[in-house]
Amino acid sequence: MARSPHHVAMSLRLRNTLSGQLEPFQPLATGRVGVYSCGPTVYGPSHVGNFRSYVFADLLVRYLRWSGYQVTWAVNITDVDDRIIRDAIEREMPIAKLTAPHIEHFLDDWRRLRLSEPDVRPRATEHIPQMVDLIERLLEAGHAYRTEDGSVFFRISSWPGYGRLARIDPSQQRVGERVVADDYGKDDVRDFALWKGPKEGEPRWPTRIGPGRPGWHIECSAMSMHYLGTTFDLHTGGIDLVFPHHEDEIAQSEAATGQPLARTWLHCAHLQLGGEKMARRTGRFDTPADVFHRGYSPRALRYALLAAHYRAPVEYSDQSLRQASAAVERLSSCLRSLDEYTELRPDDASLPVVLQAAHRAFREAMDDDLNVAAALASAFDLVREVNRRIAERGLSTADAGRAAAVLRDLDRVLAVVGPDETATSPAPPDGAGHEITGLLAERAAARAARDWARSDELRTRLAELGVAVEDTPDGQRSRRITEMARG
Ligand SMILES: [Zn+2]
Repeated sequence: MARSPHHVAMSLRLRNTLSGQLEPFQPLATGRVGVYSCGPTVYGPSHVGNFRSYVFADLLVRYLRWSGYQVTWAVNITDVDDRIIRDAIEREMPIAKLTAPHIEHFLDDWRRLRLSEPDVRPRATEHIPQMVDLIERLLEAGHAYRTEDGSVFFRISSWPGYGRLARIDPSQQRVGERVVADDYGKDDVRDFALWKGPKEGEPRWPTRIGPGRPGWHIECSAMSMHYLGTTFDLHTGGIDLVFPHHEDEIAQSEAATGQPLARTWLHCAHLQLGGEKMARRTGRFDTPADVFHRGYSPRALRYALLAAHYRAPVEYSDQSLRQASAAVERLSSCLRSLDEYTELRPDDASLPVVLQAAHRAFREAMDDDLNVAAALASAFDLVREVNRRIAERGLSTADAGRAAAVLRDLDRVLAVVGPDETATSPAPPDGAGHEITGLLAERAAARAARDWARSDELRTRLAELGVAVEDTPDGQRSRRITEMARG
């Protein structure tokens, strides 16, 4: 069970939206955790506000793994919904053709932002039978009813627990655009569509409950329970998903199974742009690609998205990206200095205490409902302390190795140091690897010496070897040109 040395002291507490309380985290099965995160609806590129919620989920998953848990992480892709269908009809193309490039971009951004690969990435269109099973159970139990057009609705009046997550009065009427989208002649204005009957020009699946397509909410219930079981540990999403999406997920899942869906619900606050929530419909948003084109590295964007507590709104701006670039550079350059450091002298007797204290402070902060701002502060305290000892030549070579190991261990959770891209790039052709590494180092040195002619010459030579080089505030970045053409 003690999968890592960190596990022993584990005392993670999380703010459960369902109870509104800070609760000690207790997995259903000892040492194992199931996590479901609501993924993107792929009718356009995901913006950095969407990615804040994925970066938060990744931080959670990385921290659970760092703490010794064996995690199963499922992140769905909603590849059928009203907006996708609307756009596909407008462009006269099948929905799969509309969603394919958006999915590809999403996965590329996911990798570049160093989000861990989920254990499962289910797509809604590939889980229609599971949704139909669930709807049949609800119909049999009297929690759902059919309408004349072949749709099926969840009957909210049959489920007294409705409104518990969002803390709304169940008699309250549903408001907002989805009411119109879901309105196919239902009994009660609050009821929501589990299944939408066939409509001219819309995609449909032939099923036991008749032809049609799923509602958005049933997709997540069916996929999460299929991969993680009737009841699982953690369900995450953006705060805007609390109502109605997650409230509806709970109602339809628990009415069908009689068991709780997820034990703990975690919701990430919005990313703000100019004091307002970043949202596609306002037209004021950046995609990760926009940010990279402006010269910020993926790890700087990752840092900007994770550096504040997940429940606090974050103001996103060029200034926040510049600060993030500087922060990741401070961590990276400390590690570089430690890696290059050699000194023949006795070990620094006070260093182990400093390293242990930093490690403990980091863990205690993260255990406190993922207080990443405090965890980062402890990492930067360590960086300051280590830099001072490097400047004084107070460390032995072995000390430097120990300090670097601690920083790298913290970065297993943060994932913001080290070069961008190389992890996902294919290996260079045989024999060329050493040459490329050498040329990249030479070019970095040429730029540092402001020798632009030499730097350009080296860029050309690297391009001949299939490596593209870009200059960013974080220094030069390289990637395989073959990879670029594909992505
Ligand atoms: Zn969902």
